[in-house]
Amino acid sequence: MGRLRVGLGFDVHRLVAGRECILGGVRLPHDTGPLGHSDGDAVLHAIADALLSAAGLDDLGTLYSDEDPRWRGADSAALLADAVARVHAKGWSVVNVDVVVATEGPRIAPHRPAMRARIAELLGVDADAVGVKGKTLEGLGSFAQGAAVLVHAVALLESNQARKAN
Ligand code: MG
Repeated sequence: MGRLRVGLGFDVHRLVAGRECILGGVRLPHDTGPLGHSDGDAVLHAIADALLSAAGLDDLGTLYSDEDPRWRGADSAALLADAVARVHAKGWSVVNVDVVVATEGPRIAPHRPAMRARIAELLGVDADAVGVKGKTLEGLGSFAQGAAVLVHAVALLESNQARKAN
């Protein structure tokens, strides 16, 4: 096994009326959706940040700035695919990712298989190397009134180069 690296990603987006609810690359039926410069897919953003960080690359906000018109209304799947290409170009392969999605709505559980499959497709890994878990916020604070989605993601990378002998 080559060298391993771990990366941590986090993202939060407000959920507002009049926005499509796209999370984990999947369109969910819900009356609000994440506000953002791109499509606001906090799941794909957190995963991209975890991968970029593990590979020692610049973070999402630096590479895909909110002020760059190229990313206005962008499909975050394209953004994640670009991040994965950068990670591969640095000689790293994705081993697995794990994601926690905290929100009072939409419900994540019914969409886990679709989200895992879509994320796996974007990362070029098997679906069993992608964990997605939904958590509620137990009615605490304004997040718990359905105002936002919070996402934590962790990613493990393996170097494509064989470990150097000492
Ligand atoms: Mg974001």
